[in-house]
Amino acid sequence: MLIRCYGARGSIPVSGKQFLKYGGDTTCLEIRTKNDEIIVVDAGSGIRRLGNRLKDEGHFEFHFLMTHSHWDHILGFPFFKPLYDKRTMIHLMGCPLNQGDIYKLIDKSMSAPFFPLTLQDLKAHIEYTPECRPGAVIDSIEIFSINLSHPNLGSGYKFVEDGKSFVFLTDNELAYTHRGGCSFEEYAEFSRGADLFIHDGEYTPEQYRFTKSWGHSTYLDASSLAIAAEVKRFGLFHHNQDRTDEEQDDIVRDCREFLETRNVDIECFALTQDFELDL
Ligand SMILES: [Zn+2]
Ligand SMILES: [Zn+2]
Repeated sequence: MLIRCYGARGSIPVSGKQFLKYGGDTTCLEIRTKNDEIIVVDAGSGIRRLGNRLKDEGHFEFHFLMTHSHWDHILGFPFFKPLYDKRTMIHLMGCPLNQGDIYKLIDKSMSAPFFPLTLQDLKAHIEYTPECRPGAVIDSIEIFSINLSHPNLGSGYKFVEDGKSFVFLTDNELAYTHRGGCSFEEYAEFSRGADLFIHDGEYTPEQYRFTKSWGHSTYLDASSLAIAAEVKRFGLFHHNQDRTDEEQDDIVRDCREFLETRNVDIECFALTQDFELDL
């Protein structure tokens, strides 16, 4: 399973020399099965670069999964260039219990007066599967989902291929349970032993004093979950819109110290928008 990140920033795309290392694009991941089937997770602004790459490589069939429909996770959708090629086939999986009908939500976001083209103007064929399918299989990857603790809800995912697992929980507030969200213990159980664990670490504890219930976690709460779930590699995600590269480096250093003092052997890092890992 090959995992690539195209955007790790939270809430809004940012630019500037202070953000060059971790990048300014919002959430988008590409996951490839061992047979080169492509799963796209979220359509934040990072999806533009992914689309350009896939177009250059001549890929036309994709599976799309959305964590939820907040702007920063869908705003890049119309800028995914393969949408404008009639050879493109997109299998869009939705989870209406969590986020409403994702197809309708994207349709709404691409309508006048918000956008010049509609979903119906696209050349690609989009096949929408509205139901949540626990244990869905795409080629050699099995996919499991869990409700996020987030305003308006959302889904976290676990991808398993040949005994290796990748857990992706972004926009997940561990210290406050939103309606429909799960407990710390349930997230730990879901993430147990993950080879790669990526979690929302948007806030510092100081910031969190003012942002409790906004839907995101501190990097220390996320680290505690990594420890409880005994994961192998732990990546911080959904970087705060104002966090400079230098400040993010400090957080990674602090996170590593936190893990060391608890005598656990977990590799901690922060996702860059060029992150790539072959599990
Ligand atoms: Zn977000
Ligand atoms: Zn969100």
